[in-house]
Amino acid sequence: MSLEFATIASGSDGNCVYVGTKYTKILVDAGISGKSIEAGLNAIGVSGSEIDALFITHEHSDHIKGAGVFTRKYGTPIYATYGTWNGGEYKMGKINPLSRMVVSSGENIIINDICLCPFDIPHDANEPVGYNIMTDRHKVTIATDIGHVTKTVLDSLSESNILLLESNHDVDMLINGSYPEPLKRRIYGDEGHLSNETAGKLLACVMCGKLSNVVLGHLSKENNTEKLAYDTVESILNKYKIKLGTYLNMSVAPRSGVAEIIELE
Ligand SMILES: [Zn+2]
Ligand SMILES: [Zn+2]
Repeated sequence: MSLEFATIASGSDGNCVYVGTKYTKILVDAGISGKSIEAGLNAIGVSGSEIDALFITHEHSDHIKGAGVFTRKYGTPIYATYGTWNGGEYKMGKINPLSRMVVSSGENIIINDICLCPFDIPHDANEPVGYNIMTDRHKVTIATDIGHVTKTVLDSLSESNILLLESNHDVDMLINGSYPEPLKRRIYGDEGHLSNETAGKLLACVMCGKLSNVVLGHLSKENNTEKLAYDTVESILNKYKIKLGTYLNMSVAPRSGVAEIIELE
């Protein structure tokens, strides 16, 4: 069964990821406006009404702000942890109780031919999770908003075919940049965001023959550039003798606008 993956937006201004098979189409996060979600989906030939389910990673606005509008228009069920509902429901407006689904880390959710499993991530939100999305042949991992690498994160990333991995900031740009000190500490801290360097080291650790596509995402507008993220991660991989471009492709998700679809047969 073939699988399609595309980021519709990825960055501190908003996140939304599409994963689809012949029978099932889902979104992970809806942190852009309802209109932008629809426009992004249309750009890849999908209509909003085709989305079977919307999964939320955590309640920060860049992951949740379009969810309410989208579900009120299409009746799409929203799946989120109890903590995320608690912390984020007020940001979504009125949600039909029938569309309100609760997930727990480690517990599988089956949507037709897709199985999703949330996993705990260390981030300064109520009960944040990443998602493993599995079909009979493929595994996609969504791993952004990660303050540091835990054993759960490491284990969850293993044997993925497509990995959306946070590469949020360049440490020097963050330290020398214009952000106020408390915000710098938050981003750099254990429950903040992964730097380019940490993303590169993590990727080297989870590298396996199955991984064919890495997408670096959730880049900071102020403290990173696409080139810096790519080059930093590539140079770390090279130190581990991992070469890009043969069996492993790496790309950087645009902060806004739809990325090219990655398709696995
Ligand atoms: Zn966040
Ligand atoms: Zn975020």
